[in-house]
Amino acid sequence: MAENLYIDTRGRAERPVPFTQAVIDGLAEGGGLYVPERVPELSLDEIGALAALPYAQRAARIYEAYRIDLPADTIEALMAQAYGDNFDDERICPITSLTASTHVLELWHGPTSAFKDMALQCLPKFFSASAKQLREQGKLDHDFMILVATSGDTGKAALEGFRDAEGTSIGVMYPDGGVSDIQFKQMATQRGKNVQVWGVRGNFDDCQSGAKNVFSDEAFAARLLDEHGIALSSANSINWGRLMPQIVYYVSAYAQLVADGKLGLGDELDVCVPTGNFGNILAAYYAKRMGTPLGMLFCASNENRVLTDFINTGTYDIAQRDFVLTPSPSMDILVSSNLERQLFELTGRNAAAIAGWMDDLREKRRFRVDEGTFAKVRAQFSADSVDNATCLAAIKRVFDEHGYLLDPHTAVAYQAAENLRGENPVLIASTAHWAKFGDNVYRALHGIAPGDPLPDDVAALSGCALNELIARETGATGIPRGLAELDGLPVRFDEVIGNATDDIEAAVTRFLDRLDD
Ligand SMILES: *Cc1c(COP(=O)(O)O)cnc(C)c1O
Repeated sequence: MAENLYIDTRGRAERPVPFTQAVIDGLAEGGGLYVPERVPELSLDEIGALAALPYAQRAARIYEAYRIDLPADTIEALMAQAYGDNFDDERICPITSLTASTHVLELWHGPTSAFKDMALQCLPKFFSASAKQLREQGKLDHDFMILVATSGDTGKAALEGFRDAEGTSIGVMYPDGGVSDIQFKQMATQRGKNVQVWGVRGNFDDCQSGAKNVFSDEAFAARLLDEHGIALSSANSINWGRLMPQIVYYVSAYAQLVADGKLGLGDELDVCVPTGNFGNILAAYYAKRMGTPLGMLFCASNENRVLTDFINTGTYDIAQRDFVLTPSPSMDILVSSNLERQLFELTGRNAAAIAGWMDDLREKRRFRVDEGTFAKVRAQFSADSVDNATCLAAIKRVFDEHGYLLDPHTAVAYQAAENLRGENPVLIASTAHWAKFGDNVYRALHGIAPGDPLPDDVAALSGCALNELIARETGATGIPRGLAELDGLPVRFDEVIGNATDDIEAAVTRFLDRLDD
């Protein structure tokens, strides 16, 4: 069968591109997002048969089904590297069943203990291989520096993914004083020759707009290309190369539940996903399109409930919406960029409609989909939001009932699943290990309201010491090594820079000068 090319959601790119180019570009020409021309389908038997393979080979099968333009043996080799002993469980994302019909898909066994690893242990390998192939084809003649603005989790996962990657370096900016002790230490102690981390004065918005300004400075781009032979790239969550690895684990989890005798082959399984940028839940939709018997897709929001309101009303509206801080910060998002792909698919790939809605969103801060599309949204998704206090109460309840600790993101999904579920069994996407968010787990277990201070003696503990305290109190075992050892690792990066474009560009230049030496 012919190679599968990538088209864009706004119909503005000149021509479709192969997978390798889509991965390198990230965003399509004209601002749209890439999607594959064809979504492959697997038979039930093919899906069931995946369970006999190790996870890396399940992933390779899915990539091969998408007919990406890399040789099969390259795909297999990269997957073996992406999903190997960098994960602390050989099943990569094992499933814990809380009851006969409630299954938790643990997506946090990677090196940074958050689900971003599932994509970011994989994408950099494919990014390097794609760049190499395009170079050999004479379509590329430079290297890359990945520049990431992070509110905490993504930055660490990107650092770990791109650490020592071929032809690529990475610089991460986080708001100085705006991340947790664990998050700071995870980034500041990062290993690798091609990495750099900066604290930036200001909040996450300042970081993000700083990065945006640097990305759009054409004179700076020309200078980097000329003096260092590199182009900036963001490798952010709209990159198709980050979505593909996420499709894999839904197909894989279904096959596993069947193999474990918890589901009959062909039985429907509902999925509940704690959602921010709509990437993870969109991957579940593509897994369903590929033939995985998934039923309803439950979209779980925290108090930033723009997606839940959209799914319930058909209007996406951020004109009058305040950004709320919650115990699940990785879902504190107002503009969910991957929703654009979902709407593209639900409209039967109507690029003109998507382009119009995205223009509305930019100009009026809101858009409303037509009734036909809204009906299709309602047929696939239901949604609920969970407030901060209810989230913490769910952590406590699940621990009391099942002796299992949820992180606050997963707790939002757990509670939304309880609110929305029907007859089908439910798979809950668990997106972080609890020990990444020990302060709110402590609040939950001790009945302290969200946002209230911890007792002085507890507040004085480092993130690692707090996690040890929680483990002693609950009998929880298995704090991931990457989190447990943080207090003992040397801090490599403690530089704080300003958030002006000049400050960031100067820092980037110093970093690249150091790499060139
Ligand atoms: C990124 C993230 C999410 C949200 O995932 P999206 O793909 O953006 O919807 C949820 N939980 C955690 C812990 C995350 O890091």
